[in-house]
Amino acid sequence: MNIIIFGPPAAGKGTQAKLITAERGLLQLSTGDMLRAARTSGSELGKKVAGIMDRGDLVSDEIVIALIEEQLDNNKDAPGFIFDGFPRTVEQAKALDKSLSSRDMSVDAVIRLAVDDKVLMGRIKKRFADEGRKDDNPKSFKIRLDNYNKQTAPLLPFYENRRLLSEVDGLADIETVAASIADVLNKLEVNVSSETLPFWKRIFGLS
Ligand code: AMP
Repeated sequence: MNIIIFGPPAAGKGTQAKLITAERGLLQLSTGDMLRAARTSGSELGKKVAGIMDRGDLVSDEIVIALIEEQLDNNKDAPGFIFDGFPRTVEQAKALDKSLSSRDMSVDAVIRLAVDDKVLMGRIKKRFADEGRKDDNPKSFKIRLDNYNKQTAPLLPFYENRRLLSEVDGLADIETVAASIADVLNKLEVNVSSETLPFWKRIFGLS
């Protein structure tokens, strides 16, 4: 099963992706984490993206798509993936479809963490104070949020039209959000497995 965990910055995507990983063994692919690791390692890529990230802007589609492709190739045995912070543009979403279908996979669900911008601003002030992440400063965060609304939110209709989108209340506490996501995924698993049954078994509810 391949899932996208979707939402604005600081909505709790990373936290929830880690919980899903722990429960279901899916591999978390966070482009933000990959880019931060590149910076820490001092690689050319890290140097190239540092300023862009600190400003709160998006790095190029080409860079993040290449990172995802590399991970898909390096983890061929994974039971599935959780994409966290990717895709963030329509171009990236189209590239993900291509990358997955060339490996006989597809996006099975997109889970949107619905949150309020004002609550996010409050959350981020705390995270900035606690962790000191440069791009959490108020100016960069505002740019990240604007980029989300302009470039990433248009992906919602893209996935809704394909009936892949489920929404959960991202403002609830961590455990409640995790339980809502688990509900969505459990239903999905039932549907996916029953679709593989012969039609007469499906009609009579036999498994
Ligand atoms: P995140 O931790 O997901 O909020 O990502 C931190 C920063 O990394 C973002 O503000 C962007 O500068 C960059 N980044 C992460 N993922 C992407 C992506 N899919 N597309 C473009 N830039 C990204």
